[in-house]
Amino acid sequence: TPETYSNEQIISFRKEHLGKSLSLSYSDPLHIVRGEGVYLIDSDGKKYIDTANNVNHVGHQHPEVVAVGQQQMAVLNTNTRYLHKEIVNYAEALLKKLPKELSVLHFVNSGSEANELALRMAKTVTKQKDILAIEVGYHGNTNSVMGVSSYKFEGKGGFPKPKHTHILPLPDSYRGKHTGADCGIEYADYAKQVVQNLKEKKRNVAAFIGESMISCGGQIVPPKNYFKEVYKTVREAGGLCIADEVQTGFGRMGKTFWAFELFDVVPDIVTMGKPAGNGHPLAIVACTKEVSEKFHTGMEFFNTFGGNPVSCAIGRTVLEVIEDENLQENALETGGFLKSELLQLQNEFPIIGDVRGEGLFLGFELNDTNKKPLAEHAAYLSDRMKTLGVLMSTDGPDYNVLKIKPPMVFSKEHAEELVSKLKIVLEEDFMNAY
Ligand code: PMP
Repeated sequence: TPETYSNEQIISFRKEHLGKSLSLSYSDPLHIVRGEGVYLIDSDGKKYIDTANNVNHVGHQHPEVVAVGQQQMAVLNTNTRYLHKEIVNYAEALLKKLPKELSVLHFVNSGSEANELALRMAKTVTKQKDILAIEVGYHGNTNSVMGVSSYKFEGKGGFPKPKHTHILPLPDSYRGKHTGADCGIEYADYAKQVVQNLKEKKRNVAAFIGESMISCGGQIVPPKNYFKEVYKTVREAGGLCIADEVQTGFGRMGKTFWAFELFDVVPDIVTMGKPAGNGHPLAIVACTKEVSEKFHTGMEFFNTFGGNPVSCAIGRTVLEVIEDENLQENALETGGFLKSELLQLQNEFPIIGDVRGEGLFLGFELNDTNKKPLAEHAAYLSDRMKTLGVLMSTDGPDYNVLKIKPPMVFSKEHAEELVSKLKIVLEEDFMNAY
């Protein structure tokens, strides 16, 4: 039976019968059997602090979320063609968290689906096809969203950039093309150039899509005025602005509930996913009344699972737990504490080239003294941290960024444990040879 399969047997079954392009974390993969709060527990009973998981937002297997899912599953699970109060309860609670302009919701099941729908809305509403997106961005695994995810383009075995996609340089004020105080405007100028070029070809913009903090890009915090300027350019050309909050939403920023709010902009469409259902497949597209009206061309939008009572009950409970357990405040306080501790480590260990992020969405780069990215050191650090009982992920175009985005129940004590273990590894010979 599966319970008696050894790790080797599971690996060989996966190799034989599961898609070859699936990947596994770590060279010696983990066999996780249980989750609890910030912890994941393996088949030997070893506990790991999970700093990599921004899906199990209110903590792994949160009892209230589990209970409401079990209860609703035992009563009814159908689709949105019947009336049900849970979809209203959840929609009301979620709309309270959004700017009033974003007053209409569509329920789907994954971040990919949410972005797929957002792009389709933008194309339908504007009657245009051209999309602006950010370099190293990732928006999902379906055809259209892969087409705006430069993270997955050619170099990585992905497909070529579609001709209607226009990639704007990564607005990275630490390592990017522009780094000065006004670099937000300089980066936003690329959007102006794209719009200009399109106009010369008698084309126009359907949408700009971007994460408000760029996660796969390496926890990049876009510079001041970047989004304001890009939004202005895109809107003047008649395009819509889509904020992908799949990773960054639901209070993780600490200061704000959504990352776009840090930059003082209101998108036309917001997509949400991962944390919405705390691990249960639930994703949402929020849009303005105007977008929703124009998207309604007469064709039905139907989604078999989207908006079902189980998902909605779970989504509503996730919002309640965020509120009841003050998790946004925790992101602000614990995230602030952790960031200051990481800055302290940076003083001690010059291999840490940059510490950045907001709330419980942080990252740091490993570089040599000439700012050359140290990918092998990042991989070593993440492997060693696993041995010490902490799971961390690496990313960024140069694979040298350690990302920290734990469940939001991550406490000051967890932060202290993380930092003390980082220190152990940072003192090791490998980390000091570069
Ligand atoms: N947008 C962003 C920013 C993401 O990080 C991801 C998933 N990594 C997606 C969209 C796609 O979400 P899903 O995997 O749920 O389809």
